[in-house]
Amino acid sequence: MDYLLRAVQFDERTTDVAITGSRISAIGENLQPTPQTAVIDGRDHYLMPGLVNAHSHSLETWMRGFIAPLPLELWLMQLYAYPIDNLDMVYLAAWQTGWDTLRSGGTTVVDHLILLPGQELATIQAAAQAYRDLGIRAYVAPLVQDVPFNESVPGGDAIPEVGEAPETATVVALLHEAIRTCHDPAAGIQIVMAPTGIQLCSDALFRGCIEWAQRYDLCLHSHLLETQAQEHLAQEKYGCTAVEHLDRLGYVGERTSFAHGIWLRDRDIEILAQRGATVVHNPLSNLRLGSGIAPVLKMRRQGVNVSIGCDGAASNDGQNLLEAVKIGSMLHNLTDADYRHWITPQQALQMASHGGAKGLGRSDLGTIAIGQTADLVLCRLDDLSMLPHTNPTGSLLWGQAQNVVDWLWVAGRPIIRAGHCQTLDPAELRERLKQYKGWRSRRAALPDLEPHYRRVMGLTAMS
Ligand SMILES: [Zn+2]
Repeated sequence: MDYLLRAVQFDERTTDVAITGSRISAIGENLQPTPQTAVIDGRDHYLMPGLVNAHSHSLETWMRGFIAPLPLELWLMQLYAYPIDNLDMVYLAAWQTGWDTLRSGGTTVVDHLILLPGQELATIQAAAQAYRDLGIRAYVAPLVQDVPFNESVPGGDAIPEVGEAPETATVVALLHEAIRTCHDPAAGIQIVMAPTGIQLCSDALFRGCIEWAQRYDLCLHSHLLETQAQEHLAQEKYGCTAVEHLDRLGYVGERTSFAHGIWLRDRDIEILAQRGATVVHNPLSNLRLGSGIAPVLKMRRQGVNVSIGCDGAASNDGQNLLEAVKIGSMLHNLTDADYRHWITPQQALQMASHGGAKGLGRSDLGTIAIGQTADLVLCRLDDLSMLPHTNPTGSLLWGQAQNVVDWLWVAGRPIIRAGHCQTLDPAELRERLKQYKGWRSRRAALPDLEPHYRRVMGLTAMS
């Protein structure tokens, strides 16, 4: 089925947009439908390019609203204290992450996927299946590491080992299996190489990921300098910054996106800009974990591509992409008195759509232009949350838009049609999630990192 969107608003104009097959085929006045074209009345609607949820961890859905206010290193210990061993929970978490992304205007999700111990490949396959079933464009990025947890904290190699780290070769072989069995760009499912970050990964693992990325034409992803502890750790491990080290390894490039990028130095920003790399801004997670404010204005001024992510639902504690865009653009007004540097709603939209696509090496996504792949979102402007009519971009991204996604296409396929999801029944998702009430009754005993953390971070000793 082809589509003709009659008289829609976008880019401060009102005109027709035609979708033929998977692409935007025409933009202009009074376009004529063919017999196989469905005509949609676009009046009172706003068309935007699909947004990209450029960093998430679907499995954290099971921990939303649950973990105490803690910094990342201690928060992680709580996250891993409640092990999930059930592939149905993996599937449902991906389904919900994808669904929340779709209904807040996202057509693409990057899932930095936490893997179930002993069921790593099956986890990747279950999440990929969920995204395939849902129809969202998904970049499934298995979260891998080969260093024990205690070493993620400065001085941590001197304390008893926390958690078992797999052999590097085992991890690299797993990634190859994931590529072989799940990488399917034609179906909208791509595998991404994504060592979790310098704090938990060896150089050999980064190199292994670069090798697969080159061989199979894949994107690279990683956390980067999310906390000050990681900044200290980089100096301790490498005697230079994390960006300088990753650049020497060859990990920083046009198809590399880094989540967070908070504790960057000026030279790091220069390197990221020179290499054409992307930083994914996760404002809510950064607030929740007290990680810091990413230097987004400075990065943008110096030519670093910045996109937007929700991060996992245990550090957000939801997956509302519009909320992340709103806070992620307004937050930086606090960091620069010169209001001419502040981010406008239009620029915020560009970061979340075009910026997200660029970070995945997708020049065919993120803009509304003839020939582009039709990942599009048609939002209702007559919902009460969007009234009265003022500036549609401002109302959508900075207002309180709720349930305004009326139609949503991924590569020309309508996933949401006239307000209804075509691939998932939210009532079924609700019932299946409800079945797992009380799953947290099993708590793993993990050693306590807190005394060491407080010592190395210069916090007062615990009483
Ligand atoms: Zn993350």
